[in-house]
Amino acid sequence: MKDVIIIGAGPCGLSAAMECQRQGLSSLIIEKNFIVHSIYLYPTSMQFFSTTALLEIGGVPFTSPNDKPFRHEALVYYRRAAEQHGLEIAAYEEALSVERNEDGSFTVHTVNKRGERQSRQAAHVVISTGYFDQPNMIGIPGEELPKVTHYFGEAHPYTGMKVTVIGGSNSAVDAALELIRVGASVDMVYRGASISDNIKPWVRPIFESMVTKGLITLHLESRVTEITPSSVIVTRHTGETSELDNDFVLAMTGFRPSRALLSSAGVLMDDALDKPSFNPATMESNIPGLYVAGVIASGRNANEVFIETGRGHGKLIADHIVSQKLK
Ligand SMILES: Cc1cc2nc3c(=O)[nH]c(=O)nc-3n(C[C@H](O)[C@H](O)[C@H](O)COP(=O)(O)OP(=O)(O)OC[C@H]3O[C@@H](n4cnc5c(N)ncnc54)[C@H](O)[C@@H]3O)c2cc1C
Repeated sequence: MKDVIIIGAGPCGLSAAMECQRQGLSSLIIEKNFIVHSIYLYPTSMQFFSTTALLEIGGVPFTSPNDKPFRHEALVYYRRAAEQHGLEIAAYEEALSVERNEDGSFTVHTVNKRGERQSRQAAHVVISTGYFDQPNMIGIPGEELPKVTHYFGEAHPYTGMKVTVIGGSNSAVDAALELIRVGASVDMVYRGASISDNIKPWVRPIFESMVTKGLITLHLESRVTEITPSSVIVTRHTGETSELDNDFVLAMTGFRPSRALLSSAGVLMDDALDKPSFNPATMESNIPGLYVAGVIASGRNANEVFIETGRGHGKLIADHIVSQKLK
């Protein structure tokens, strides 16, 4: 039986495994896809807003010619860091539920890509399943059409197409800028009175100049209220509606964590904040021996935990497990 099973091989789960290792605890990571799957899903040419130093885990230096690294550099970095630490990772194995045994240890029920079910035992469990699997759905007619996606990889497939980008955050702005480079005609629809204050400062002036030049049509204080196979219906805050001719919709509306595993183990949720109950000093949930790490610990605003902050959760967890063992 392992000391710790960590569910999710994102940067925060990997960091937790490395910290457990440093403190002499054995661990196994269960990952339903593959290592840093969320980063793999980022737009292909995405540049981090964090510097390399703030993305480092397990004391492994992240070197790059760029102050802020690109997605492909982060994929290599996290892969190498995991390799260097010799982490044990069960890839393509999904955790379905977590059960607390009578003696206080845990059974994690999983299924692998061949459909084989397993019951894995550990003295402690860390849930670090992130938030990238569950897009925030808008809940409008037509959202299920194949022309709509919540994930933007790269602009090339949209060459010369009419694309509506929904949202006003960094992902929406980055997508809009990439799209005009391949000759797409871009409408951007955002409910706010201006795009987000958090837009990367080096990107904002470029975006504003593209709007001024008329290469991106920005519809502020507006919502897409229906999607049809050939158009989107946009409703202004005044109630006035218009129909835009459209081939594709990129709904850059963010993501939110799935709490299913936490609920399966009996972790309490603060319904108002949509946040699991845990002690921020140890990351232990209301279930003794069961911890949260990374963005799964955040509330409704999933952006309150980043790699920068979530990578430190593993140390709090390992410190607590070791201190309990010494008692
Ligand atoms: C475009 C973009 C840019 C970003 N830039 C930055 C930045 O510059 N700096 C920064 O600090 N943060 C940035 N972030 C945020 C950062 O990506 C997240 O905070 C980070 O990925 C959270 O790490 P995590 O380990 O908690 O979860 P994740 O990275 O989401 O990893 C969770 C893992 O759990 C796995 N999983 C899920 N469910 C199960 C299950 N049931 N069983 C087994 N495995 C499961 C998933 O496959 C995934 O691999 C950015 C995010 C986006 C979308």
